[in-house]
Amino acid sequence: MELKFDVVVVGAGHAGCEAATAAAKLGAKTCLITMDMNKIAQMSCNPAIGGIAKGQIVREIDALGGHTGEVTDATAIQFRMLNRSKGPAMWSPRAQCDRGKFIWAWREALENTPNLSIWQDQVVELLTDKTQTSHVNFANDTRELCQLHVCGLRTMLGVIFKAPCVIITAGTFLNGLMHIGRTQIPGGRCAELPSLHLSESIAACGITVGRMKTGTPVRIDGRSVDFSLMQEQEGEQDFHKFSYMGEPRQLPQLPCWITYTNEAVHERLRAALPDSPLYNGQIQSIGPRYCPSIETKLVTFSERSEHQLFLEPEGTSTNEYYLNGFSSSLPIEAQIEALKLIPAFRNLQVYRPGYAIEYDYFDPTQLRHSLESKIVEGLFMAGQVNGTTGYEEAAGQGLVAGVNAARKLAGQEPFVMRRDESYIGVLIDDLVTKGVDEPYRMFTSRAEYRILLRQDDADARLTERSYEMGLASRERYDHWLRKKQEINEIEEFCNSYSVKAAYINKGLKALGSEELQRGCKLIDLVMRPQLTLSNLAPLIPALSNKLNSIKDRREEIIEAAEVRMKYSGYIRREKEIAEKIQRLENIRIKGRFNYEDIQSLSTEARQKLAKIDPETMAQASRIPGVSPSDINVLLVMMNR
Ligand SMILES: Cc1cc2nc3c(=O)[nH]c(=O)nc-3n(C[C@H](O)[C@H](O)[C@H](O)COP(=O)(O)OP(=O)(O)OC[C@H]3O[C@@H](n4cnc5c(N)ncnc54)[C@H](O)[C@@H]3O)c2cc1C
Repeated sequence: MELKFDVVVVGAGHAGCEAATAAAKLGAKTCLITMDMNKIAQMSCNPAIGGIAKGQIVREIDALGGHTGEVTDATAIQFRMLNRSKGPAMWSPRAQCDRGKFIWAWREALENTPNLSIWQDQVVELLTDKTQTSHVNFANDTRELCQLHVCGLRTMLGVIFKAPCVIITAGTFLNGLMHIGRTQIPGGRCAELPSLHLSESIAACGITVGRMKTGTPVRIDGRSVDFSLMQEQEGEQDFHKFSYMGEPRQLPQLPCWITYTNEAVHERLRAALPDSPLYNGQIQSIGPRYCPSIETKLVTFSERSEHQLFLEPEGTSTNEYYLNGFSSSLPIEAQIEALKLIPAFRNLQVYRPGYAIEYDYFDPTQLRHSLESKIVEGLFMAGQVNGTTGYEEAAGQGLVAGVNAARKLAGQEPFVMRRDESYIGVLIDDLVTKGVDEPYRMFTSRAEYRILLRQDDADARLTERSYEMGLASRERYDHWLRKKQEINEIEEFCNSYSVKAAYINKGLKALGSEELQRGCKLIDLVMRPQLTLSNLAPLIPALSNKLNSIKDRREEIIEAAEVRMKYSGYIRREKEIAEKIQRLENIRIKGRFNYEDIQSLSTEARQKLAKIDPETMAQASRIPGVSPSDINVLLVMMNR
């Protein structure tokens, strides 16, 4: 059987789902092929979305018109805004979700997207063809230069999918090998088949393949746990959520629980280290440093007598709990016996053991910022296959790959976000410029413009651009325009309203803020750390009326306006720096130099520049091994 599509996406994980819906919404006839339709957008590890820097990515996906935020809100069973003790640039939303409902909410979104078909099967081969791009003349020997381009895919069921654009989002499945103690099982995830042959057919095109690993903890039967021996951690019940659209959270909110390991637990785990695939040479590949297994924590922090564990619910109607902090690939009996030495787990029953998995990924420096391969035209890659880890990182890349596949077919310029515009822009620029030597996870520290990339303003940064290219809906755009107008009105009011000292001083004293010597503008009070629009409103009836006039999304708008006012100085300064750097971004250098021949560049710079072939001078300056003096050499040559 042969089927024809504009875009075919391989794998309905977090990257694949966003890629497929984005491409289809932009008008491309799209097919999403996945191994198991009942595992669409399965959260392989923790059923939680967001967290530090990751929460900002989800807000960006939502502002662009993607679905991860809405699906998370619809299935959230605990929501928290992390990092509240720090400035708003660091605030990061996180939600624990109902694992099963998350899958069905995503499936509903996919099945209601026009232009999108779904096919359950395993892709086993990438089909390519050669296009002659030009002739070159080497000493009277005329040769053709050819570029490979995608023409389709072949599946395990023998179906040929013809398509000019293919997006690979196969996650941890490519030649996946799971480890529990000395037991090794081929698989893409627990109880799921590995994806065989596809990796080899991609590598045969000249794409570099590497190997990485990750791991997950045991899942516990809640009926066997003594919750009275643990600390309860409630979620927040306020207005925050992920999507700028949609309804407030609807599912019942559940607590998480905190407990600790102890010396006896550590002793039992240490006794099993000779059987640990991480320490007996069985696993060679590199895992995420910042998400270590419990056995790695014991070895790295041997002085510590306890480690914190979070017991997190996996759903509203199941007894299954995820034990955050206890990722392990030690033998099953070691995992269970050690946990039984924690008082709350004395009668422990486990549903599934922890395990580690090794899988193939592709060198992301062989991709363009559009996430299209430099080697095979029409081939896009997104998610874990690019060496990242995390649902949010995958979903953000998926959306960009889906948009760019559709734009390529329509003959449009690629959609690329700058580093001062989004965390997704930072993520992709890091991947294609620096490559990866361990699973890449987003942190706020990776972004140089943190104050510009806040969770409250992703719509301000991205919705208009997305609407213009046809992805964000009219409804979303109108929603943003209304919010923008309300924020501007609040700011104008605070800038123009004068406060008299005699009138406000008693109230200021009660709020622990210094009394005024003379009158001032309201904005001067808003800038004070102890004062907020909400605690000032009862003191100033005109402000109270102004805020009460906002009917829709009142708290969200007030918070966004306040953050903008309080941090206006920092925001202005970061924008100025970003504009200066933008000058280097505007100098396009792709294809303008033969780096191998520029002797005044360092050897390392010559090699790295030739490999990455940067689009702009700014990208060149971010390549590790390219120094400021190398950039000066290029700038001088440009001027000549
Ligand atoms: C055991 C384990 C532990 C993890 N622990 C963490 C963690 O602690 N922290 C963290 O941030 N991330 C963790 N991850 C990674 C996280 O799951 C991924 O980052 C995220 O799911 C990647 O999304 P994705 O869309 O790229 O791929 P996935 O979510 O893996 O989805 C890939 C999809 O592609 C399908 N597929 C694969 N090959 C084919 C094919 N040939 N044909 C058709 N369909 C195919 C699969 O069926 C699947 O639906 C873990 C993953 C695993 C497996």
